[in-house]
Amino acid sequence: VSADLVAGLRALVAEEARVSTSPSVLDHHGRDLSYHPPSLPDVVVFPVSTEEVSAVLRFANEHGVPVVPFGAGSSVEGHVIPVRGGISLDLTRMDRILAVYPEDFTAVVQPGVMRNALNRRVNGEGLFFSVDPGADASLGGMAATNASGTTAVRYGVMRDQVLGLEVVLASGEVIRTGGRALKSSAGYGLTHLFVGSEGTLGVITELTVRLRGIPEHTVAARAAFPTVEAACRTAAVLVAAGVSVSRVELLDAATVRAVNRYEETSYADAPTLFLEFGGTRASVDADLAFAQEVAAAEGCPALEHEVEAEARNRLWQARHNVAFAIMATAPGKRLMTTDVCVPLSQMPDAIHRIRVVLDAQRLESSINGHVGDGNYHVAFMVDPGSPEEVAAAVALNELIVEDALARGGTCSGEHGIGLGKIRYLEREHGDALPLMRALKHAADPNGILNPGKILAG
Ligand SMILES: Cc1cc2nc3c(=O)[nH]c(=O)nc-3n(C[C@H](O)[C@H](O)[C@H](O)COP(=O)(O)OP(=O)(O)OC[C@H]3O[C@@H](n4cnc5c(N)ncnc54)[C@H](O)[C@@H]3O)c2cc1C
Repeated sequence: VSADLVAGLRALVAEEARVSTSPSVLDHHGRDLSYHPPSLPDVVVFPVSTEEVSAVLRFANEHGVPVVPFGAGSSVEGHVIPVRGGISLDLTRMDRILAVYPEDFTAVVQPGVMRNALNRRVNGEGLFFSVDPGADASLGGMAATNASGTTAVRYGVMRDQVLGLEVVLASGEVIRTGGRALKSSAGYGLTHLFVGSEGTLGVITELTVRLRGIPEHTVAARAAFPTVEAACRTAAVLVAAGVSVSRVELLDAATVRAVNRYEETSYADAPTLFLEFGGTRASVDADLAFAQEVAAAEGCPALEHEVEAEARNRLWQARHNVAFAIMATAPGKRLMTTDVCVPLSQMPDAIHRIRVVLDAQRLESSINGHVGDGNYHVAFMVDPGSPEEVAAAVALNELIVEDALARGGTCSGEHGIGLGKIRYLEREHGDALPLMRALKHAADPNGILNPGKILAG
């Protein structure tokens, strides 16, 4: 590490300890849970204010030092890995909830606020923050990846929740986009541009987000099916019928087996939908009855449902731990997960076709997904030390993406591009790449912000 770099940064932040070169801190900021090889930053900086972020960026921009924003580090495509070294800018100490406006259904937060912390703060007021990617991610990281997860089918994705941002550009300049109003047509949609930009266009230092009212009555349910396709068809019918499902999650039989081992549950060893219904008691009862009928027609023997909060939480904890359950099936291996999203009508056939291909392979895989949105993941556990195994998984990943694109879908429903999907983005949006590059150049002319991510080169 250049002593000048560390000394320069220490001159900008108030406490020396917030500029770290400790090996364990560097290691924590040099990897994620995925198969992407680690690469260490030179230094990790923990700013506590917008002014400090601005000073660090101005310094880095002047000296051509890469800066990789870091939230909870739970992203899965190598997003936070500093492939060109430089500064990992850890925003977790900017973790204040600045304001809650219950009557407006909004909150203003710093980027390091974790979604569970925001929920703990607002649940008592009958409100919740809807986006739930399973992991307890930071609001800044969730915005930067346009995260979604289990509840998007009802409440939408991160882009639908962020009303306004404070962003520090590569130059250190601070700008504000959007505001506290629920809608705005004032000029270009910069808020939506920064959401999903994966730290490549600016560093988010404040967010104004939407909150939602907690439904009066909530029921969670499980439905096991003879085939994955039958489960997907059921999901599609429920969504098309306008049933007020707030979650529709698919676990194939391999995923259910992994969950049973990991969580010590005894769910039926079959493709399963985990569902949640929310609304008034009468509307939820009617929706449940309708869902029972639709599921029965697809061969589901019974919809098992849970009303008590503890039992519901248990079920969703099992769903949220799917990635960890799958990882536990192959100790020493690393996770590669696909993330395609296809039009709803295409999903049963897309999953059927992929299942046939996967069944003919030696590589172990499992399928889970937010099937109410047409978004499904194939999880592979690969040995990063085995080029053959990585190549086999990459080839399957590619086939899944090609299939999704041919159906009018996308290579990434929610995880983002990071390092892992750059070439798929090229295939999906080749004609728009010059404009994306021009936008990147306008916001970050020296290319210091999370270089090597989203766009090649
Ligand atoms: C078990 C598990 C389950 C998951 N399930 C889902 C799921 O269902 N849906 C889903 O969408 N994702 C899922 N994810 C992925 C992950 O949780 C999301 O991508 C999440 O949004 C990442 O947030 P984070 O705070 O961890 O961000 P990080 O991983 O720290 O960063 C993600 C990206 O955002 C950038 N960034 C971070 N903070 C800022 C900031 N303040 N300003 C600018 N850029 C910033 C980083 O540079 C990086 O490019 C899952 C992950 C795990 C481990």
